[in-house]
Amino acid sequence: MFNLSPPKFFTDFFPDLIWRYPEESNKVYITFDDGPTEVITPWVLDMLKQHNAKATFFCLGKKVEMHPEIFERIKAEGHAVGNHSYSHIKGWENGTGQYVQDVDMANDIIGSTLFRPPYGRIKTRQIRILKKRYKIIMWSLLSMDYSRWVTPRRCAKIVLNNLRTGSIIVFHDSKKAEKNMKRALVKLLKEVKRRGWEFGVVE
Ligand SMILES: [Zn+2]
Repeated sequence: MFNLSPPKFFTDFFPDLIWRYPEESNKVYITFDDGPTEVITPWVLDMLKQHNAKATFFCLGKKVEMHPEIFERIKAEGHAVGNHSYSHIKGWENGTGQYVQDVDMANDIIGSTLFRPPYGRIKTRQIRILKKRYKIIMWSLLSMDYSRWVTPRRCAKIVLNNLRTGSIIVFHDSKKAEKNMKRALVKLLKEVKRRGWEFGVVE
C-alpha cells in the first residue's frame, strides 16, 4: 500500500473511487477505520465533541455486533457511518462473490451507502458490482497511525505536513493505532481550527 498520498496516475486509474474532495471546500474530512472499539472510540467521540468536530466512521460489521451501544452513540452525535465490510476481508485474496457477500452482510448491520475497502485493496470486478450500491471512499492522506515504525510525534507530523482542504484523512480507532492516532488527532483538531477550516463528513 502506498504511503501518505496516492499518486495522481494511480487515482486517475480508478475514476469510480472517491479519493478527496475539491480544495475549494474549505473542509477536511476525518475518517476512522476498523471500529467501533471499546474505550478508544468513546475517547475519539469525546475529543470530537470537545472540538465541535464531525467525522466519518467506517465500521466493521462484526465490531458493531460486539459494541452496538458505541455504534449508536456515533450516529446520535451526528457523525457519518460507512461500511468497512463485515470481517475486514481482503479484496485481492477473495473471490468477488464472497467479497460482495461480506460487504452486503455488514450493511444489514450498518446501513450506509458508503463503503471503504479494507487495506484499500479491491479488484476491478468488485468495484464494478459494489459501485452500483455504494459510494466507494478511499483517502488522500494516510496517517500511518497503525505502523509500528511511526512514533506519535511523527504521525502528527505526517498529518499536519500533508493537510489540505478537501483532504480525506484516515485514522484507525483500534488498539494498534491508539497511541499515534490520539496525538495526531488532537494536533489536527487544533490546527484545523487555527486555520479557520471546517470539518466535513463523507456523504
Ligand atoms: Zn481497515
